[in-house]
Amino acid sequence: MLKQTVIRSGLEALYFSGAHVALRGMLGGIGAILTLHHVRPPRRDEFQPNRLLEIAPAFLEDVIVRLRRSGFDLISLDDMHWRLTKRREGRRFACFTFDDGYRDNLVHAYPILKRHRVPFAIYVPTSFPDRLGDLWWLTLEAVIAANTRVRLEMDGKDRYFVCGTPAEKHAAFAALYWWLRGLESEADLRRIIRDLALRYGVDPAVSCADLCMSWAELAELAADPLVTIGAHTVNHLMLKKSSEGVVRQEMQMSVRVIEAALGIRPEHFSYPVGDPTSAGPREFAIARSLGFKTAVTTRPGVLFPEHGDHLTALPRISLNGEFQRLRYVEVLTSGAATALWNGFKRVDAA
Ligand SMILES: [Zn+2]
Repeated sequence: MLKQTVIRSGLEALYFSGAHVALRGMLGGIGAILTLHHVRPPRRDEFQPNRLLEIAPAFLEDVIVRLRRSGFDLISLDDMHWRLTKRREGRRFACFTFDDGYRDNLVHAYPILKRHRVPFAIYVPTSFPDRLGDLWWLTLEAVIAANTRVRLEMDGKDRYFVCGTPAEKHAAFAALYWWLRGLESEADLRRIIRDLALRYGVDPAVSCADLCMSWAELAELAADPLVTIGAHTVNHLMLKKSSEGVVRQEMQMSVRVIEAALGIRPEHFSYPVGDPTSAGPREFAIARSLGFKTAVTTRPGVLFPEHGDHLTALPRISLNGEFQRLRYVEVLTSGAATALWNGFKRVDAA
């Protein structure tokens, strides 16, 4: 929460100082790739620890209209790839990308994107439409939401988390989430969550079936020329924590499964989680060697012509559900905020 407040006031300060306008020419780059997850009407629950991963349909529409009015070309990943490789200077561009293939993308986002003729990409982890997906962050949310006390063995010791009030639930979620993310082995993370789910009576398969598109739904989207289907591994693993063999297999297998299911060979890839703890130079090199045209991270940043030499290490700008204000999007796509975060380094592929 504190971190969010700091980010928010930083964004506000940049906006109200007008600094982002002054900096845009210097820092704005040639375009930006936007990251989205869920698009759906807001829920009222006080405990929504994963809310940063969702925006409201009306906000999506506002962003589209605002970007077009501000002179952005809204283009597909193939067009972006063309501009980056041909080093074409044109109008600034933005690409809309959705991770994970949630059903609300079809129900709530697609009608808006179609009405405005906006190309977009969906990166699919193939275990999700195969109904074997382990959306462990949602399982953790469900366990904490339904209990007032949660017991867990952490680093060999039994720990108890009191989670009666929304504030306690948020604190418990943050503590457990970041402890789990810090584990060296993702197999351990998955095992701990499976054990929690079992002990607290949460069925992890439910969120996958409820929230993720089936192959038939994905096929409906894939048939529209506006839509690019990209790969996002099979099991949604933090690849940097896996062996090189597993990384290659996860990337190659996801391409084969999507091709078999939809008849389209994906040429674009998104690293699950996508921050520096989940994808690094080894993953960027493997994605390149497997022939992906582009691969995206969640490292924050706008695109510069130099990214033409780092096509499998592209930064993105997250449309974060905690910051659903148009002025934040303006500041982020101006490149000013991410330039500050990145210490004014334009390419971060290390
Ligand atoms: Zn994902």
